[in-house]
Amino acid sequence: MIQLYIPLNFLGVIYREIKQSLTDLDKMFVLLAREREVADAPGALPLRVTGAAVRFEDVHFAYEPQRPILKGVSLEIPAGRKVAVVGPSGSGKSTLARLLYRFYDVGTGRVTVDGQALSDVTQHSLRRAIGIVPQDTVLFNDTIAYNIGYGRAEASTEEIEAAARAAHIHDFIVALPQGYQTMVGERGLKLSGGEKQRVAIARTLLKNPPILIFDEATSALDSRNERAIQAELEAAAQDKTVLVIAHRLSTVVDAHEILVMEQGRIVERGRHAELLALRGRYAQMWALQQDGQEHAVSSPG
Ligand code: ATP
Repeated sequence: MIQLYIPLNFLGVIYREIKQSLTDLDKMFVLLAREREVADAPGALPLRVTGAAVRFEDVHFAYEPQRPILKGVSLEIPAGRKVAVVGPSGSGKSTLARLLYRFYDVGTGRVTVDGQALSDVTQHSLRRAIGIVPQDTVLFNDTIAYNIGYGRAEASTEEIEAAARAAHIHDFIVALPQGYQTMVGERGLKLSGGEKQRVAIARTLLKNPPILIFDEATSALDSRNERAIQAELEAAAQDKTVLVIAHRLSTVVDAHEILVMEQGRIVERGRHAELLALRGRYAQMWALQQDGQEHAVSSPG
């Protein structure tokens, strides 16, 4: 029995190793496939950021030819302002963020930063100008210091720690036996959703880009954590051009403009008070979720 047990156990280890490698490979191919979706135009110039104003001009987009996702979206985020997007799941909110980061090229229409079409500038310069705090941060299988410093290779230990302090994750890190050298990611220490988001915020603070995309988590964070992360983000977003895919009222009430998306179109737009007065889709969502504890402004679809 023992003789049988050992090889089986060993097989289990091998199986897990192979499975993990395949998962990594899988991710790599997804990333490579994405990279192939877009390419620098011949003679593309670096993006020149003046104020970091963002515009979407009548943007149409589909992941698959038969299924249009964005159907003529126009929006503007003036330099240093915050625009919030709300709407049901699947309405195309995150797609806006992906197009701004140029994971994909638009079908028709264009997206510009300070008047320069994203398709005319180098991807490198565009991505240097944009920081993303995604809903679910995927960490590299590396140290926590590497994960924070990623995005600014030349960052010093002091700078990494300062960013971690500002994102309120420093104390957590130093309490770990290996501190900043702790391995995280799928093969290392597993972090909670809130901790991962703080790592992403620290990374973004360190990168200090003029444009910020924040995809708020829909779930899983308790409200104390949520308020803390909100405050950290607000600090990070000072004077930046911000696109936020919002799920909570506290995020949208002070937005320069709130866009309500439905099935790939903006169906309402305005400031919080204006939209409430309109007594339309936004007012309806707001009223519905005022009753709940969450104060969420997105609905499950
Ligand atoms: P949620 O609030 O749930 O995050 P969302 O409004 O951000 O939703 P998107 O992620 O923009 O929605 O997705 C819009 C539509 O595009 C969805 O119907 C989704 O199924 C589809 N979609 C998203 N990513 C892809 C992809 N890589 N390939 C094909 N279809 C996709």
